[in-house]
Amino acid sequence: MSPTPRSFALALTVLVPSAAAAQVSISWPQHSMDRPAPPVVTTDPTSGFVPPPSDAVILFNGSSLERWRRADSTGGPAPWKVQDGYFEVVPGTGAIATRDSFGDVQLHVEWAAPVPAVGTGQERGNSGVFLMGLYEVQVLDSYQNPTYPDGQAAALYGQYPPLVNASRPPGTWQSYDIIFHGPRFRASGELLRPARVTVFHNGVLVQDNVTLTGPTAHQRRPPYTAHPERLPLALQDHGNPVRYRNIWLRPLSDASP
Ligand code: MG
Repeated sequence: MSPTPRSFALALTVLVPSAAAAQVSISWPQHSMDRPAPPVVTTDPTSGFVPPPSDAVILFNGSSLERWRRADSTGGPAPWKVQDGYFEVVPGTGAIATRDSFGDVQLHVEWAAPVPAVGTGQERGNSGVFLMGLYEVQVLDSYQNPTYPDGQAAALYGQYPPLVNASRPPGTWQSYDIIFHGPRFRASGELLRPARVTVFHNGVLVQDNVTLTGPTAHQRRPPYTAHPERLPLALQDHGNPVRYRNIWLRPLSDASP
């Protein structure tokens, strides 16, 4: 049956919310310390390891960084420390990136901030999950560690604070479940569609389908520049021995909205 004008209007109404996805705040400057801190939400710290589903691409299974390399142009073997089922940032060695490239994904990452907690603000347990090597979901020890909200754990760095602070104490395993739809560009390089990100931190929704303004940067929000539909995933060395384990993803088909 062909739609009546009324049902067509309803269908349009349903479409509007996704078109009006969250935009960066115009009320607060980037990295504002005056911005209200997201409310704290606690979760059961004993609920931890989420086993990968059967169709997942396993990026770290507890024993080897063979699917990773240095993120710099040398592309050499990933120099971070692997032990006891996890790997750890070796400060000063630089970021690491996957050998394979990925586009739209469901990504699961488990991480733990260092103990004892050392430093304050951005200097405590800082690392980052860089989608396509460009778009950072901040990793930070945000347990009783104030910083600017758009730079705390589970922030889309410099763009969106998390909806709540679901951080666990340092040394405790935490999880990010990320749904990422990368940007699309016309052949001319013009932006066709910005990237969108949803994040669950320890199972709690903290980023609800936000629209990225462009790649991650400090003290600025640069515009998009055209890049391939698939790029390596990267993890940041920000000078702190953050640990990671159980990293897997599921590529999403372009049929996703
Ligand atoms: Mg970081």
